[in-house]
Amino acid sequence: MVIVASKVYVRFKPTRYVESLVSLNGRVVYVGSKEKSLSIARSLSEALGCREEVVEVDGVVSPGFIDSHVHLAGTAMKKIGINLEGINSIDELLEVVSREATRFREWVYGRGWDQDRLGRWPTRRDLDLVVEDKPVLLVRICGHVAVVNSLALEKLGYLKKESMNKAMIDYENGLLFEDAVGDAYYSVKKSMDPIKLVVEGSRVLARNGITMASDMGVDEISYIGYLYAYSRGLLSIRTRLYLSEKLFNELDKVGVVPFGGDELLRVVGVKSFADGSLGARTAWLSREYDDDPTTSGKPLLDSGRVVKLARSVKKYGLDLAIHAIGDAAIREVVRGYIDSNCRCRIEHASVAPPSVIEEMAKARVRVSVQPRFIKSDYWVEERLGDRARWVYPFKSFLRLGLEVGFSSDTPVEDPNPFEGIYFAITRGVLSRLSSSESLDVETSMYLYTSGSASILGDHNAGCLEPGCYTDVVVLSHDPLEVYVEEIPSIEVLATMVGGKFVYNRDSSSCCIED
Ligand SMILES: [Zn+2]
Repeated sequence: MVIVASKVYVRFKPTRYVESLVSLNGRVVYVGSKEKSLSIARSLSEALGCREEVVEVDGVVSPGFIDSHVHLAGTAMKKIGINLEGINSIDELLEVVSREATRFREWVYGRGWDQDRLGRWPTRRDLDLVVEDKPVLLVRICGHVAVVNSLALEKLGYLKKESMNKAMIDYENGLLFEDAVGDAYYSVKKSMDPIKLVVEGSRVLARNGITMASDMGVDEISYIGYLYAYSRGLLSIRTRLYLSEKLFNELDKVGVVPFGGDELLRVVGVKSFADGSLGARTAWLSREYDDDPTTSGKPLLDSGRVVKLARSVKKYGLDLAIHAIGDAAIREVVRGYIDSNCRCRIEHASVAPPSVIEEMAKARVRVSVQPRFIKSDYWVEERLGDRARWVYPFKSFLRLGLEVGFSSDTPVEDPNPFEGIYFAITRGVLSRLSSSESLDVETSMYLYTSGSASILGDHNAGCLEPGCYTDVVVLSHDPLEVYVEEIPSIEVLATMVGGKFVYNRDSSSCCIED
């Protein structure tokens, strides 16, 4: 197959573009002029006795985006659930929940509230006023805190469960934290079809121009969904799985080796948590929060456990990725990585003062960052005071030679890569977020393609050099030519994985097949 466009970006940083590429069996075999591509394709089709296919694309072709940190089933659940983002009062929240509750058969599920917008924390008494006959779970925008109604507390067994860590549940107000949110979320997820969740999530990403994603903290339900969807050929995009620690331990206990898979789907690692989120003040900081001096966050593991975990995943040749947002959490994880001599991943690395970045560089950690957080964390100055200048230091990470990949953390943020790229460049309007850390478009495109591929250790992805996967996205505009303000409105016209369309917005005007 030959793809011809006004511009075909082969890679970014160093940036190279051509007018055409030739693909055979899902891999790029030639990039260069249209004339030479057509002649190569002609010889190939004669030699192999197959039909010659020319795809003329009305748009700019780029390597497909690689989102290095997603939650696929969560992305699908967000689409199915009630969207609570941007709700500005408790009254408005209750009105929306009461109106939408009727469309759920069992669990009423919603996501995206933020107590700073609501004016106060929502409580179970609020929810009991509008939904009494069905359990309700409403997850905060960050995914680390949730509020439930009284029936949900009962259904989840939280009212009688003695073994449950009491610190994770505020019974009085119906607020759940960390593991307690995870357990409740799992109950809601169990009431849904796992194959549908994975397939729908995969489609959402393909529509956003993402050709490969790494799904972080895959649980049993998603894992089953993946294996079925894979065996039936229903996955749109390439996916690399990092199993949840719980699922990994269960498989390890019974001696089941995680799915080795192929270029489309495989288990590559295990994901764990060192802390929570800045939004919920559970990210583990080295000193108290500026807007709540009673806490410096919730540590969830120490370096000793990191060493143990690194050892057990190594047995299977797997990678380790640990969520660490606060500076104390990052430091602890890095210490564990140095002690276990493993070059593993850190997820988010949000609050990273220069001394912490130096330690990260010494441990040669790979980092997955989410530039779209810059927009969502509009309160970061209040939370961190002066420390806000150390938040999301992408440029410093690169300067010290860290391998960095971009991601959205969907459903936490919109999976549209251009949203993230825009905030990596503009750094939002937060005065104390250091603008010297802002990146240019080229570097941002690099981090969302080759950068993410490199932290996933897959060098056949992220660029279109001969030998690479024919994973491409067709864009309405050239990101390197438009004004910065126009970047978020660049549209994905089509997405191709292994030379096959997995999304095509408008097949009649986009592609001419010969
Ligand atoms: Zn995440």
